[in-house]
Amino acid sequence: RNNHQTLLVTGGAGFIGLHFIHYFAEKYPDTRIVNLDKMTYAANRTEEEKLKKYPNYRLVEGDICDRELVEKLFKEEDIRGVIHFAAESHVDRSITGPDLFIKTNIEGTFVLLDTAMKYWMRRPGEYYSGYESSRFHHISTDEVYGTLGETGLFTETTAYAPNSPYSASKASSDMLVRSYYHTYGMDVVMTHCSNNYGPKQHSEKLIPTIIRKAVHLEQIPIYGDGKNVRDWLYVDDHCRGIDLVYRKGRAGESYNIGGNNERTNVYIAKKICELLDERRPHQLKHKHITSHKDLITFVDDRPGHDRRYAIDANKIKTELDWQPEENFESGIKKTVEWYLRHEE
Ligand code: NAD
Repeated sequence: RNNHQTLLVTGGAGFIGLHFIHYFAEKYPDTRIVNLDKMTYAANRTEEEKLKKYPNYRLVEGDICDRELVEKLFKEEDIRGVIHFAAESHVDRSITGPDLFIKTNIEGTFVLLDTAMKYWMRRPGEYYSGYESSRFHHISTDEVYGTLGETGLFTETTAYAPNSPYSASKASSDMLVRSYYHTYGMDVVMTHCSNNYGPKQHSEKLIPTIIRKAVHLEQIPIYGDGKNVRDWLYVDDHCRGIDLVYRKGRAGESYNIGGNNERTNVYIAKKICELLDERRPHQLKHKHITSHKDLITFVDDRPGHDRRYAIDANKIKTELDWQPEENFESGIKKTVEWYLRHEE
């Protein structure tokens, strides 16, 4: 794959997009990167500023649903590849306000796909010469597969069974991506990853919430019985996987990316509390408690809460030689340390 091109990254001021742009810009300094981001509440302006040290990087503040803007970008920037992260991503928000999830995740993906297809293709199956390397990489989630019982793993052929408006909107966008491959012969790839963790994640997500509440000695809310299982993937491992699939994955294929780290939510909360007991033992006496674990409080379960997610990542491991490198115990420690250094 030719990297001397302009890559459009959408949602690059969000958690995973920020890590990915650092990774990609360091590895391929010749590639121009345009980051199209609406800079919603989920974007991190301070961290986005730091991307400006890369001479080939620029931010375009705008909405992926804005067809005029997207078309202008494709033309003016000569976009030759897309890595599409932009989405409304928080399940709880999708329960109280699904409209924006439908708009951004489904309609926004459609606008990007349709523009790319028109810009990259002359007639069905035939691309302008020199554009053969144009590829659309859609970032999706394991949540499209619904929930697992005590055993089993999600593979790329697991049937879709989304249970929240968020996962339903991501599943819908996956179907659109699939259709542009089968109908228009566009070069698309998709990745489905498990829950990411690491520095720079928005404070509303599970791990940052646990850290924030524990640091402020507030009750740490855990849904239901706390035994819901997620397969945690360190964000930098995810970025390496995306790079491999974008450059070497087979067109029309989807690849699951998971960290082999199944943990219950209550395990995560206890682990973070143990780390804070070591790092901030002095603050416990203000609250008259012996461990931050005493702050863990079980609250009413989230409606439609999937019980267990776990990924079978054998396809990306065998085809593209990817392996998760971060050990969960060290990854979570690095994450907690980062939040303690960035309390603001
Ligand atoms: P995030 O919420 O941290 O960031 C999303 C970014 O998209 C933000 O910068 C936001 O401003 C931008 N955005 C939102 N709506 C937009 C619009 N209409 N136009 C342009 N930009 C818009 O999300 P994240 O955690 O970095 O996730 C990135 C992608 O990975 C998403 O597609 C998500 O579904 C997927 N994913 C995330 C996880 C995870 O654990 N974080 C797991 C599986 C899949």
